[in-house]
Amino acid sequence: MSYRFQRYKQLLPFCLLLLVGGAFLTFAMPDKSSSPESTDVDVNECVSACGLPSHVDLSGDGYPVKRTDEEWRERLTDIQYHVAREQGTERPFSNPFHDNKKTGLYRCVGCDTPLFSSTDKFNSGTGWPSFTQPIDPRTLGEHRDNSYGMVRVEVHCNVCGSHQGHVFPDGPKPTGLRYCINSASLSFEEAESAEAVKDLVEKWYQVEGE
Ligand SMILES: [Zn+2]
Repeated sequence: MSYRFQRYKQLLPFCLLLLVGGAFLTFAMPDKSSSPESTDVDVNECVSACGLPSHVDLSGDGYPVKRTDEEWRERLTDIQYHVAREQGTERPFSNPFHDNKKTGLYRCVGCDTPLFSSTDKFNSGTGWPSFTQPIDPRTLGEHRDNSYGMVRVEVHCNVCGSHQGHVFPDGPKPTGLRYCINSASLSFEEAESAEAVKDLVEKWYQVEGE
């Protein structure tokens, strides 16, 4: 056996290791392309670093923002009132945001709290705006909903109590969750970029928290 072949035999295990390692890395890396909107901007970055604004005290009973029925009716349109205040559901596909692909911030229609970002929005095909996560789990409350003979998880704004929709465990990456939200529970503020959405979120946490 020649010297060169001996050398090759010695290198063989290392070559195999490289091949296997490379293949492992390829499959283990998260598939960024399937995330809702490819961006490196972390819109929710402020959420973990910032405290809630001073008018948003979630430690007590009830919601920090309270309005009389008259005030709610004055603020909201009929469909917004029905969905947000009476736990209603709007019709799929004929609502303003289900197919909205613009970059921007979705706020609660009842109190303007930033709840969802376009960077977490994806096309679920259900006819309702769908997101993989809320901006801040503190401001989006959940409770078990047993209506219509189904067990579902209802989600609402924790600042004013407005009903938003439901969350289901069949969403895409990165969370595997699908927040199925009514357009009638949201207002939309268009922004130039994901960075601008982040600025809007930070403004709510910082400026209004002063
Ligand atoms: Zn609200």
